[in-house]
Amino acid sequence: MGKAPSKRSQVRRVPKRADYDRATISAILDEAIFCHVGLAGEGGQPFVIPMLHARVGDELYLHGATSSRLVRALGAGAPVCVTVTLADGLVLARSAFHHSMNYRSVVVLGTARLVEPAAERMAALEALVERLIPERWGDVRAPNPKELKATRVLAVPLDEASAKVRTGPPVDDEEDYALPVWAGVIPLRTETLDPVPDARMEDGTEVPGYVASWGRGA
Ligand SMILES: Cc1cc2nc3c(=O)[nH]c(=O)nc-3n(C[C@H](O)[C@H](O)[C@H](O)COP(=O)(O)OP(=O)(O)OC[C@H]3O[C@@H](n4cnc5c(N)ncnc54)[C@H](O)[C@@H]3O)c2cc1C
Repeated sequence: MGKAPSKRSQVRRVPKRADYDRATISAILDEAIFCHVGLAGEGGQPFVIPMLHARVGDELYLHGATSSRLVRALGAGAPVCVTVTLADGLVLARSAFHHSMNYRSVVVLGTARLVEPAAERMAALEALVERLIPERWGDVRAPNPKELKATRVLAVPLDEASAKVRTGPPVDDEEDYALPVWAGVIPLRTETLDPVPDARMEDGTEVPGYVASWGRGA
């Protein structure tokens, strides 16, 4: 759906699964707990590093220690690729070849903006906490000036982003539908277990509702 924002972000393999709508892209980014950030390091060596992200409007915030190699490279203008994947199901076909996955994924290409103003960096850190655990920021101590200084924030524009989505049953070759083989989908989801209280927590501290009810997706 929609039109690819650039030639290099156009999905070529099974293009019917491509979706360039910002709403689709945003929903996938917002549901994903973490992303993978790829960049070319020294000598062209690719690095793909897991990181947290927070989408605010048309940008994706990333953060890391000022000393982090990745953060320094992105801040210096290295081209970046950010990927998120939501695994929705294992798709079991009647033939080995047509096994697949149901998934929603996003690939963002671009160059990050180093966020300089302290107020925007603070807002980005709040977004990073809040998107992971809504309502948390108001309960915890905010970063102090030393912590803020030790943290770099980057903003990746969503101008060049694509989503790819697969849903539904397996698609087998017509002659294989007669095979006596179980076929279908094993749905997958992220499940939370009971929260584990920290042993050093003050007695009588109640479990906040946002902890007890934390979840992702529908
Ligand atoms: C789910 C998740 C979310 C994270 N979120 C953040 C975040 O928001 N900000 C942040 O700064 N860091 C985050 N981290 C840690 C992050 O993955 C890196 O370890 C960290 O940013 C240091 O990166 P660097 O390139 O400076 O590391 P360096 O120590 O310079 O990396 C050197 C080498 O160590 C190896 N390496 C580095 N990180 C990893 C890793 N995670 N797993 C396996 N090998 C590794 C790689 O071979 C890499 O080339 C997260 C990790 C996970 C798993």
